Amino acid sequence: MVKIQRTLPAPASLAVEADKPSGSYRELDVIEQLRKDFHDKCYLCGIKKLQDPEVEHLLPHKNGKYPERKFDWNNLFLSCGHCNSIKNQTKYDGGILDCCVQDPEEVIDFRFQEGNVDMVAKEGADEKVALTVDLLQEVFNKKNTGMRVYKCEMRLQELNKEMNVLYDKLEVLKERPDSRITLRTLKALLRRESAFAAFKRYYIREHKEQFPQLSDF
Ligand SMILES: [Zn+2]
Repeated sequence: MVKIQRTLPAPASLAVEADKPSGSYRELDVIEQLRKDFHDKCYLCGIKKLQDPEVEHLLPHKNGKYPERKFDWNNLFLSCGHCNSIKNQTKYDGGILDCCVQDPEEVIDFRFQEGNVDMVAKEGADEKVALTVDLLQEVFNKKNTGMRVYKCEMRLQELNKEMNVLYDKLEVLKERPDSRITLRTLKALLRRESAFAAFKRYYIREHKEQFPQLSDF
């Protein structure tokens, strides 16, 4: 989960659809703007190039019980189906951290160790952040159905792969600290736009003494 810069104003279809008896918050302009703003990534697990992107409501509209939430641009997020379904539990109804307002990397340690995620709320973080950490842990570990076993493992494998690419490049950098090509690759790997960016960026922050040349990334 990384900080997202949401484009304003809201896509035009939202106001039009909100006035219809059964309007849709999934018109093309909404989907296109969400994919652009969220870098085509699920805002929760961080997986990229979503095959079945979904529009997730940060605060649930509960089948129209809260119509004002249903078409509120600031309440719409891009997620994968797996994360959307895991977030759909009453314990998350009060809302989690809004990554368009607050920078998740400032309040959460995105640790990845021995093939698993180990996220922790930083000291002094509020209840919403703690709840967000619970949810993020669940999207990689909630294996209560056969399909979720598969989907969690797939995400962990993808994350593992991405971390290994990072570690490999860091090894190259240790041997050739000034290699421009390696630095360029690392810069791309550490962009907020990249897959699982928060985990990679956290690793670099934790090892910043070893890689001072990456501090700008
Ligand atoms: Zn996801």
